[in-house]
Amino acid sequence: MTPPTVRVPDEVLRIVRTLTDAGHEAWCVGGSVRDALLGEEQSDFDVATAATPDQIRKLFARTIPVGEKYGTIGVIDRERRLHEVTTFRHDVTTDGRRAVVAFGASLDDDLARRDFTINAIAYHPLTGEWRDPFGGAEDLDARILRAVGTPAERFREDYLRILRGIRFAAKLGLEVESATWAAAREQSSGLAGLSAERVRDEWFKGLRTALDVGMLVRLWHEVGAAAVWLPDLARDVPRGLSAHVRDPVLITTALIGDPGRTLRRLRASNAEIARAEAVSAARIAAAPGPEGARRWLARVGDAADDALRLAELVTGSPAPWAEAVAGVRSRGEPTTRRALAVSGADLLGIGLTGPAVGDALDMLLDRVLADPSLNRRDTLLSLLGRGA
Ligand code: ATP
Ligand code: MG
Repeated sequence: MTPPTVRVPDEVLRIVRTLTDAGHEAWCVGGSVRDALLGEEQSDFDVATAATPDQIRKLFARTIPVGEKYGTIGVIDRERRLHEVTTFRHDVTTDGRRAVVAFGASLDDDLARRDFTINAIAYHPLTGEWRDPFGGAEDLDARILRAVGTPAERFREDYLRILRGIRFAAKLGLEVESATWAAAREQSSGLAGLSAERVRDEWFKGLRTALDVGMLVRLWHEVGAAAVWLPDLARDVPRGLSAHVRDPVLITTALIGDPGRTLRRLRASNAEIARAEAVSAARIAAAPGPEGARRWLARVGDAADDALRLAELVTGSPAPWAEAVAGVRSRGEPTTRRALAVSGADLLGIGLTGPAVGDALDMLLDRVLADPSLNRRDTLLSLLGRGA
């Protein structure tokens, strides 16, 4: 390869220099080196070093333990940015879900435990030296995703690597090398043992970063990951989903029949689950008239804009009911209890109590949805059989 010169930010250079001056070998590694080779501007270079976590902590004024068990210390620079500095390590035991690591490893050991060749390249920012024992730069050039070492073993050590591989392939437009892909398909039943949180993170990151969401979805199906975690994932992906918005909850809602159930299983947040369910329930088939649009807005509440956006993403043109909704909004017609010309307090004031207040507001909203001109205080009170 003809390695380019990589522009490494000053603060990262300073960290590497500090470690080197103290006698500890230190390199830039991982995703940032990969992305730099692809010509992408990078700011967060991960540093791998022979220094132990204790030694790292003593060398820098401000550090935080990011993942000490795994040897990662966060070094805070003068601009308060965090840089991950990780001790060279090798895996001692792995069970498909997590690894026990040991320090006292060399750079080559450390690169050998990484998942894919394109992620196992080291660059020395002071000497300009490259260390690429698995031919990652060549694979990157040829647009190939290849496991480091024996693919089946590497996936059995940590099944998440199957999903990571798919994500990198879909993000960078790589072809998965055939032995790597065959092993991933063979091992995919092991994905069932992963924690839901790690799977969700991968699914969401994949949706955010894929060049083409259709490719990501196809690979999840082909490898068998969809069968394990997203059983009702669509096979046909509307082209619009790859275009602009990269909102993983919205895309999941577009691609999955019962997004609430799937997101619950993936342990998404309550807010994410509620949002997906609301948007899903907001789908309507035909274009309504003005009253239908008001009733739709009243029913779907805050999910309205998401639902409009989703419909447009899926079909490539505005939702059939977008115009009617815009009309309701531009005329300022009331579609919520709060927008009524009487409040709960008004109703308490005329002697209603308890659940009768809510029932009365619902009844009034129903009338106003049918005829917005009724939304005047005296009219509404008279509808309740009270004078103004
Ligand atoms: P991105 O940050 O864009 O997702 P990345 O390659 O930086 O991509 P990270 O998850 O930040 O990915 O991990 C940094 C590096 O650590 C990777 O490039 C890879 O070398 C190694 N790595 C991360 N997760 C694993 C894993 N599960 N198995 C083996 N190596 C891993
Ligand atoms: Mg990273």
